[in-house]
Amino acid sequence: MSSNAPTASRRPGSWASWAARNGCAPDNASRTILGVEPDYTVEFSSITDSLGGGPANWKPRLLKLHGSLNWLYCPACSALDLFPGEKIAAQILREPAAMTCHRCQEPRVPIIIPPTLFKVMSNFYLQQTWKKAEEVLRKADHLIFCGYSFPDADLHFKYLLKRAEINRCGLHVGSTKLPLSHHFPPERQPTNLEVFIVNEQHGKKPDAREAEKDRYLRFFRDKPLVHWTKLSFADFAASPASYADPVNWL
Ligand SMILES: [Zn+2]
Repeated sequence: MSSNAPTASRRPGSWASWAARNGCAPDNASRTILGVEPDYTVEFSSITDSLGGGPANWKPRLLKLHGSLNWLYCPACSALDLFPGEKIAAQILREPAAMTCHRCQEPRVPIIIPPTLFKVMSNFYLQQTWKKAEEVLRKADHLIFCGYSFPDADLHFKYLLKRAEINRCGLHVGSTKLPLSHHFPPERQPTNLEVFIVNEQHGKKPDAREAEKDRYLRFFRDKPLVHWTKLSFADFAASPASYADPVNWL
């Protein structure tokens, strides 16, 4: 997404959380330790071992659409807790008694909802996350998909994206924002959402590549603004700041 825009993660793992905590800010060429937790847009009843510090105003928003390995939820009192840097969802399997709620002493559970179980997703915090994701996607200028094959079966995520694409109010006409691909000729200057796909990998089969491209192209309305980059997820993760000038991606 555009700079300072939030990241929507479909992975319950903590890679993006780690990136914020350990320094992958877009302007952080030296990769110094930022020591901040991402802004998940949900409210935690307590933050154990909070790292704190770091630039006060640099809390990258990170929307974890399917929950997180470092969250625990109490079904009895609805408290949500964050455990920065810990895969607490795995620990709770080994030590369930040690993970009782600090407020009501009832057992807590992880919040990790795979897409296939989405129908049972009634958790208040995840509903908040999805609502916020739709809101920010409506305002995004650019979307960058990393390591995501855009499977046909992932309906709920596609509904979210499509709603956001359709409801992009006031961003089409008269927009003065330059697209990332502003080096393109005038006839291809976009007035709509621009999409970059970072999905290459060594040994990727041409058929698989074409199938993935086709899924993205069928989905988005403005086909010339859907760009298949030459980057792998690892390339992008190694230098996320480079997306500010993606001319070398294409
Ligand atoms: Zn509780």
